[in-house]
Amino acid sequence: MTMRTLKEFQILDEKSLVEYIKRTPSLSSKLGNDDNNNLIIKQVCDGNINFVYIIISPSTGSIVIKQARPYVRCVGESWPVTTERSYFEATALKRQHGLSPKHVPEVYHFDRELSVIGMRYIEPPHIILRKGLIVGVEYPLLAEHMAEFMANTMFYTSLLYLTTTEHKSAVAEFCANVEMCRLTEQLVFSDPYKISQLNRWTTPYLDSDVEAVQNDKILKLEVAELKSKFCENAQALIHGDLHTSAVMVTCESTQVIDPEFAFYGPMGFDVGAFLGNLFLAYFSQDGHADERNDRKTYKAWIIDTIVDTWNFFNKKFTNLWDIHKEGPGEAYLHEVYNDLELRELVKQKYMYDSFHDSLGFAAANMIWRIVGFSHVEDYESIIDLVKRADCERRALDFAKTLMKKRRTFNKITDVVSAAQ
Ligand code: ADP
Ligand code: MG
Repeated sequence: MTMRTLKEFQILDEKSLVEYIKRTPSLSSKLGNDDNNNLIIKQVCDGNINFVYIIISPSTGSIVIKQARPYVRCVGESWPVTTERSYFEATALKRQHGLSPKHVPEVYHFDRELSVIGMRYIEPPHIILRKGLIVGVEYPLLAEHMAEFMANTMFYTSLLYLTTTEHKSAVAEFCANVEMCRLTEQLVFSDPYKISQLNRWTTPYLDSDVEAVQNDKILKLEVAELKSKFCENAQALIHGDLHTSAVMVTCESTQVIDPEFAFYGPMGFDVGAFLGNLFLAYFSQDGHADERNDRKTYKAWIIDTIVDTWNFFNKKFTNLWDIHKEGPGEAYLHEVYNDLELRELVKQKYMYDSFHDSLGFAAANMIWRIVGFSHVEDYESIIDLVKRADCERRALDFAKTLMKKRRTFNKITDVVSAAQ
């Protein structure tokens, strides 16, 4: 499908949305099939790229409708993006829901022509995780739930479970999400390391820090390796944008949304995006501390969550590998690796490499949020710019060390000690 102009593209607004729902049984049935005259429609404005509407039929049901228009919502028509991203989001959501049903909303409807996804409404008191981290809410099950989501969605789409024939055909399909991958390539792995119109930072406080990043040869050597992994390593189906605003939470429930950047890429990119955003939240806490709450206890909770996320992920992922060691996966054939000691060695090496990838990608994810295009509310909500810049500098310095020294860390507890 070629990029269509806005005129040709049918935009759903609050009025046409009702008509659309009425003539779409998979949606109207979720709203109780009445005449749909009492629908409450609310547009959600806390995302950046797409149009999201919550539709509630009092007492009979609710849905969410997400439409991708041919441009970036928060910028406008001057920044065109393919609406095909919606196809990859719907395809990934369905696959991920199938593999991790407790942590991904069900897709009720997908319309490729209009780039419309209808899905489960993740109801209040769910909120966006990043907002919970800013106000200081602890989520006791977050680490375990995220580890479960990542282990399930990535193990079953990797060559540890799939045949090379199945894997290659899935890789080929998601290769077409190239436009979204190219955005990440530019914004995460290139722009922060050069002068770019799109870069932003807390000026003038971080001016010399930005210059230091752009003149750091070792850092550029490391980010080259990470970028090449991102572009070349089709390890598993990854979410592609697993930051803390792509997760909705309550104390009991964790829901992962918004996989429009999904493709077959390195697992460490997802693990690293999540851990990197937790580290960003950690370093922003001093900017949110006040007389009532110094945030010390909360910082300790974030650190524990980082440690638990990696350790649970490691355990759950290798557990799945053990369960399916004689399964169809073609990377480590049972006939070759049935020796117990050898199997342990192979697992250790695979997870050790994933660990170092995750640390590198965590660092890259932190750096672009501080000196690149897209910033995070964790820091943007610190009004005092001197305070904000102090927090950002500490996060940036840690990220630089993490990217350069990642191979020297053996355990996640050593990494958090370095952050503290
Ligand atoms: P974008 O691609 O523009 O970032 P998101 O998928 O992140 O869009 O959605 C934007 C916002 O809409 C989210 O931050 C969340 O508040 C809300 N939202 C999205 N999907 C759902 C859902 N299934 N249930 C409830 N709220 C949702
Ligand atoms: Mg989003």
